[in-house]
Amino acid sequence: MPQKVRVRFAPSPTGPLHIGGVRTALYNYLFAKKHGGDFLLRIEDTDQSRYVEKAEDYIVETLNWLQIPFDEGPGNEGHCGPYRQSERKALYQQYADQLIATGKAYYAFDTSEELEAHRKQHEAEGKTFIYNWHNRKKLKNSLSLPPEEIEKRLQHTDFVIRFKCPEGKTLQLKDRIRGDIEIDTNTLDDKVLFKSDGMPTYHLANIVDDHLMEITHVIRGEEWLPSLALHQLLYDAFDWKAPEFAHLPLILKPSGKGKLSKRDGELGGFPVFPLEWHTENEVFMGFREEGYLPEAVVNMLALLGWNPGTEQEFFSLKQLVDVFSLERVNKAGAKFDPEKAKWFQHHYLQEMDEKILISGFKDLLASKNIFPNNDVPKIVSLLKERATFINDFWEQGSFFFEGPKSYDEKAFQKAVNADTPQLLGEVSKIIQETEKFTEDVLSEKIKGWITASGIGFGKVMMPLRLALVGEMKGPEVFSIIEVLGKEESLLRIQNLIVQKP
Ligand code: GLU
Repeated sequence: MPQKVRVRFAPSPTGPLHIGGVRTALYNYLFAKKHGGDFLLRIEDTDQSRYVEKAEDYIVETLNWLQIPFDEGPGNEGHCGPYRQSERKALYQQYADQLIATGKAYYAFDTSEELEAHRKQHEAEGKTFIYNWHNRKKLKNSLSLPPEEIEKRLQHTDFVIRFKCPEGKTLQLKDRIRGDIEIDTNTLDDKVLFKSDGMPTYHLANIVDDHLMEITHVIRGEEWLPSLALHQLLYDAFDWKAPEFAHLPLILKPSGKGKLSKRDGELGGFPVFPLEWHTENEVFMGFREEGYLPEAVVNMLALLGWNPGTEQEFFSLKQLVDVFSLERVNKAGAKFDPEKAKWFQHHYLQEMDEKILISGFKDLLASKNIFPNNDVPKIVSLLKERATFINDFWEQGSFFFEGPKSYDEKAFQKAVNADTPQLLGEVSKIIQETEKFTEDVLSEKIKGWITASGIGFGKVMMPLRLALVGEMKGPEVFSIIEVLGKEESLLRIQNLIVQKP
């Protein structure tokens, strides 16, 4: 029987999860579900100095919001828990010891000052200091020092455990996205696996956990590709079967030049984080708070680095599960396009059940202390096509709830002249006399009068819109009149008439 697919998303809780991380989670989820497998969440919090409170909650809240739930993880324990590395601390030591016992790792006693001095000296000579096969015998470690000295140092001084990277081997690595990669082990360094504070480094904890959690596929960001050789060597050193690897392309700035950063979001006025994030003195925008629907974010992220091989662009999460494959993930970086994100959002807003839009808009109005009667459904249907976010109903339609306090200056100059009071007076008369107050009847009567008197539409319709809206925007004028009602429409027209042209 083939092994059950198990993948994990393994973020470090060092701050808000960037959308690149969210995409990694999404691709892991899609891959797991496509193959009937499990999607795990593992919190990699071994580096206490970079730990940020609330970052883990933020990760979980993001996955919940996007409806990509994990099958196992903190708070949802499976048979491989705990799922926070800080709660697995006791476990890693024995694996480091095992590598020492089999000669695959060694103790190193070099102080940070000594290492710094080596680094500086190499730099001065235009070289880079690498701790590995070519110099390890000359440094202070259990490969170079006599046994009594090692014993003494182990008792009395700080030490780390380093991996003894094999010498002179050509590694054949495989990546599901990048294909075959060859690495000469002589170019690698003897990475620290276990720190003097008794904590494992990322590398050791990561592969021990992937092994113990029965991970079959490691799908992660491209920035981890340089660690692949070491990870493969560690699996070999333990004599464990390595999972398959897939390194996802970077998410690039909209210009395509460099990695998308939180600064780009601030400068461009678009979110790069799924949820809003507050620090002591800053607030970073979140897709959720900006009004994006989870469906739009999922669809946008899915296509940021993966392509279906067809022209289709709209995919529900369920459809993505059906069609996703690692083979269709691109190698090249994917440019983040804030406009495209809005385009997806516009689509999903149009698809949304109108009842939800209406109640969302009502909530927004209530937050402004506006409690309208029954016009909201009509207003929503009038504005919907042009709306991308619920907020747009207010941006585009606040005039339905409050009359203009001033008029757009340019439009006023263009639309209003000496004839305007008299013409709008005529319109008022028609409105006053209209009994069946619907946009069709109003349109027929007012247009009929304009045509019959040969005035020219602009001369009437422009000041009329200005009177009702305050500027030259909004849906069909007659539908605005219908929604505003007789009294309010007449009042607004009167307010414009009394202005001096
Ligand atoms: N903790 C690493 C990160 O924050 C995980 C990398 C991996 O998936 O192996 O990205």
